[in-house]
Amino acid sequence: MIGRFAPSPTGPLHFGSLLAALASYCEAKTQGGTWLVRMEDLDKPREITGAADHILRTLEAFGFEWDGEVVYQSERSALYQDALSQLKANSLIYDCDCSRKEIADSAQHGIDGLIYPGTCKYKANVKAPYASRVMVHSNPIAFIDVIQGAIQQNLAQDIGDYVLKRADGLYAYQLAVVVDDFEQRISHIIRGADLLDSTPRQIYLQQLLNYPTPQYAHIPLASNARGEKLSKQTLAPAIDASQASMWLSQALKFLGQQAPKDLEEYPISNIWQWAKQHWDIQKVAPHRNHPV
Ligand SMILES: [Zn+2]
Repeated sequence: MIGRFAPSPTGPLHFGSLLAALASYCEAKTQGGTWLVRMEDLDKPREITGAADHILRTLEAFGFEWDGEVVYQSERSALYQDALSQLKANSLIYDCDCSRKEIADSAQHGIDGLIYPGTCKYKANVKAPYASRVMVHSNPIAFIDVIQGAIQQNLAQDIGDYVLKRADGLYAYQLAVVVDDFEQRISHIIRGADLLDSTPRQIYLQQLLNYPTPQYAHIPLASNARGEKLSKQTLAPAIDASQASMWLSQALKFLGQQAPKDLEEYPISNIWQWAKQHWDIQKVAPHRNHPV
């Protein structure tokens, strides 16, 4: 059993990312598994200098112990290119030189942005710089999420052919994450429900690349008092390691674990001991509306 935590270094660790770290860590550790940390730092322009180190120091101060070296996506372009070449050799991708405006003028809105209408699929002379898109089909992609239950998506209807490498040369998150999870032999993926809509795209790539599909569990999202998902964009408060006991207790309670009321008064080591003895992913509710 190999789990992972894969933050993007676009700001300090916040409560939402602590939840993902904690749930994936407890699940791995209670099953005698391995827990890896991967920095999803592909999007260099969005990265904040020093954020990756800050996240790692915060995890350490909270008492998380990861196995092996931290992997950085920014150092793994060759692996992503290999996967892209494999898809290209099997005629599963095509070049696309559509501008943002051309797509906006012709596309319908889907569940995650515009549904690319396939304009370049049969175009003969695509001009550089171009993106690479994978061709989807209309057979539903279905899986059972440990927390969210049965999920099904029709990529052709809901998403359209999606980008694996952008025209500016950046590899897309969907490709990098699939290649990394395979390369790192991740068997159990536990992460925030904001990525639930991306999972069928990732399963589809696993199928095209002949990778096994890991088990997925998507934890509910924490929101702020305005009901907005906690994220760097909504200015979620950074969690402070000097109050690690309080944050860990809050996180365990948010994840439905029946922690003693006074857990946050325990020293961190005792909280971890409690968590490792009592963690039960079946207690995590699919949705929560609990302002933090
Ligand atoms: Zn195009």
